[in-house]
Parts: sequence; structure tokens; C-alpha cells
Amino acid sequence: MRLFLAMLSHETNTFSNVPTDRAQFEARDLRYGGEIVETYRGTGTCLGGMIGAAERLGATLVPSVAATASPAGRVTRDIYEHVKQRMLADLQAAGRLDGVLLDLHGAMVPEGLDDGEGDIIAAVRRVVGPAVPIAVTLDFHGNLGRDMIAHADLLHGYKTYPHVDMAERGVEATERLVQVIDRRIRPTAAWRKPPILPPLGNQGTARGPMRRLYDLADTMEKDPKVISVSIFAGFPYADIPDAGLGIYVVTDDDQALAERLASDLCRMAWEHRREFVHTARPVKDAVARALAAEGRPIVLADMADNTGGGAAGDGTEILRELLRMGARVTLEIGGKVDDRHGAPLRVTGTVRTLSDGRFVHRGPMMTGLPGRLGATAVLDIDDVKVILITYRWQTLDPEMIRFVGIDPLAEKILVVKSTIHYRAAFEPIAKEIIEVDAPGLSSSNLARFDFRRIRRPIFPLDPDLVYEAE
Ligand SMILES: [Zn+2]
Repeated sequence: MRLFLAMLSHETNTFSNVPTDRAQFEARDLRYGGEIVETYRGTGTCLGGMIGAAERLGATLVPSVAATASPAGRVTRDIYEHVKQRMLADLQAAGRLDGVLLDLHGAMVPEGLDDGEGDIIAAVRRVVGPAVPIAVTLDFHGNLGRDMIAHADLLHGYKTYPHVDMAERGVEATERLVQVIDRRIRPTAAWRKPPILPPLGNQGTARGPMRRLYDLADTMEKDPKVISVSIFAGFPYADIPDAGLGIYVVTDDDQALAERLASDLCRMAWEHRREFVHTARPVKDAVARALAAEGRPIVLADMADNTGGGAAGDGTEILRELLRMGARVTLEIGGKVDDRHGAPLRVTGTVRTLSDGRFVHRGPMMTGLPGRLGATAVLDIDDVKVILITYRWQTLDPEMIRFVGIDPLAEKILVVKSTIHYRAAFEPIAKEIIEVDAPGLSSSNLARFDFRRIRRPIFPLDPDLVYEAE
């Protein structure tokens, strides 16, 4: 059995003015052919899961391209076309294929296109024809669209935020794909897009509305007729018509069942829509509370400056307040990516360490995968240690603090630039977590964004919207 394997993953924040170009992909990952298998085998990623499952099932992988970049503005046309054309050329050159495995995101917005993944899957379908099944893994933040559903046989969305089930979804997509190839199942899908645009702040799956929805989905999946249920919280910082919550239910040849379950989930999502609205603590308040708190470490979550959501990652408002509360100032850091995350800060400090920024993920997300932050310096500014990195990367792993010689457990306060992902690794070690409302492109206060193209009305931008969920 021969399975084609490719990855193209990007979460596009259309409010960001930082274009995601080839250099951004090269900084994170852009590789071809057999090297993909060597790099991702055994890692806590979709590709890691796909590779492990394929090898266990005795399938031969035909690896093509793996491309990913840190979330930022629209993906430039040239790198998008490069990766797409490479994928299509490899498909054409692959000879006989039994199935296609794609690791995509679902919220990629290339220049001049609203739905990157729909375009990719449709193009792959045109090459392989109707008989070769296509299974796709998608991020929990995917903005589900018609073309993705129409041209793929199976979509498998992550079921967790923090995303700790990526490898599991890769395994599932591969096993299900093989069952389709062997004609043991016949995927039949139903989907819903209720008018809800959940901000990131209450999208976490440990508690709240997404937990509620996934508890119901988990029950539904116990039925052997149900192949899988994916509830996409969606990515609200993409100003495209399809942004927002998406529900996708796939059954084994039972359209009526798929429709009924999708409706049940849609109704529940709408009934509990107000639980998605999220408010964080103002900066001054949050810093004062952290300084006064007992025990350590206290995590200050800079939720709106999450590079994983396309924010700059060099926002200065919390640091400004920490320094104001007891420090002096003289060199210029932060606030350089754009003007939406606070102004650059003049500070005086001493350089504690310099490094090449290479570390290995040790937390529950992307476990074992090497990370690259580029040239990295730690600056001591009185009692505040600032880790300055070159490539934007979300603080989702305490290893990103530890590898520069700082023990996160020994610090009074840890400021993490992350909305939810940090919770998987920091919740177990934090004495307290304070969610902070600093400015930024991943803020859960959607009223701050100048939406122009999203379908309206949509909750919570139109808080009094009346909608019959069906
Ligand atoms: Zn995500």
C-alpha cells in the first residue's frame, strides 16, 4: 500500500501586517522527501503520528513536502504556489497511489485566496481523481469551509486546546484512511457553521464550552457507526467569511445519523455561545496582583500577544508595568514587529546569557521536536529577566525558559506570551495563573478588531443575534 504524505500548515492572522513569506517558512520548517520522515518520526505531531501508523501498518510512504511557519499575516503567493506546485508535481510523479495523507491547518489565508486548505485539497483531488481517498488532519483552529469537506474523504480536527493530541490525530487519520482503502468503511459527512466567532480566551478544552461540546462528541464517537466528530473552535483573527466555529461529523455510510449528530452539536454550541465571551485582567491590576500573590511561580498570561495566533510576541505593556513597579531603564527592546503590541521600551540591563536558540520540546505539546528561536539573549533588568529571541515562537513549553539557564520554578513571576497552549505545561507548575488583557492581535476582545468581510450577523460581534440552530 502506497500513501502520499505532505504537510502545509499556517494559521493566518489577517490583521497582522507581517507577511508570511518564504523566509518565515525557512526559519521554521521547509523540507522535502525522505528527510521529512527522518525529522518527524516519533515526535508529538500529526506527521509523527502518520509516519508511526503507516510504518506499523506496513504501508509505504511517499513523502513530498513539509512546510510550516509561525502564524503571522497572509501567506505570500510565491511560497504558497511553490509548496502547492511541488506537492502536485510529486503526486504526478508518484505512480500508483492508494491514498493521500495531508497535514494541514485550516486557517491558512494566502494572498488573493480566502481558503488555502480548500484550494490545496481541491487541487490534490484533481490530480488523484475520485477513486483515491484523501485524509486530512486539521488544527482545532481551522475555519472549516465547503471546499475542504467537498474534496476530502476524511477530516480529523484536533480535539484539544492546548493541542496535546496531534500525534493521536495523525494515527487516527492514517488508520481510517487504510480502512477506506480496504473498503471496510464508507465515510459520509455532515457539517454545520453556526454564526459564532469564539475568541481564543475561552476556547480551551479543559473546561468551558469546548469541553461541553467535546464531552458530547466523545459520547457520539462511542457509536461504531460514527467514524469521527471534529468541532473546530475556529480562528477569529482571519477576516474571511468562513471564520468561526465549525462542526464536522463523519459516519460510516449513514447520512441521516451524521446530520442528526451535527444538529445536536450545533444546538448545544448556540445555547452556550455566551460562555465563549472572555475578559482578562487589565495590565496594572494583573501585575499588582502577581506581585502581591503568595508562593511562586505566578504566571502572567499575555494572551493577546500570542505568536501562535499571529501576534508580534514582542509586546511591551506588561514589561513596562513590571519595570515601572521597581526598575530603571536605558536600551530599546520590543514593540518592533508592528505597532499593535505596545511601543518599544528603553531599558538598562546586563546580558546574562547568549545562545543559538536551539532547544527540544519537553512539554506535552510537540514532545521531542527540536525548536529554533534563533540568536537568543537573556537580559537582566534589575529583578526582571527578559528572554529576547529572533524567531517568533509561543511560550508553550517551560523548556524555552530552562534552556537559557533559568529555572522557571524559582521565579516569582513568569510572563508567557500565549493564550491557551501554555496551560498544558504551566498549569501543573503554576501557583496561580492570571489572564492579562494587554493589547495584541490575539486578544479575546473581538470588539477591538476592524472586521470588514466576515459574515454578519455573528455572535459575539452581534450580541443579540437570534438564530435557530438546526
Ligand atoms: Zn491551533
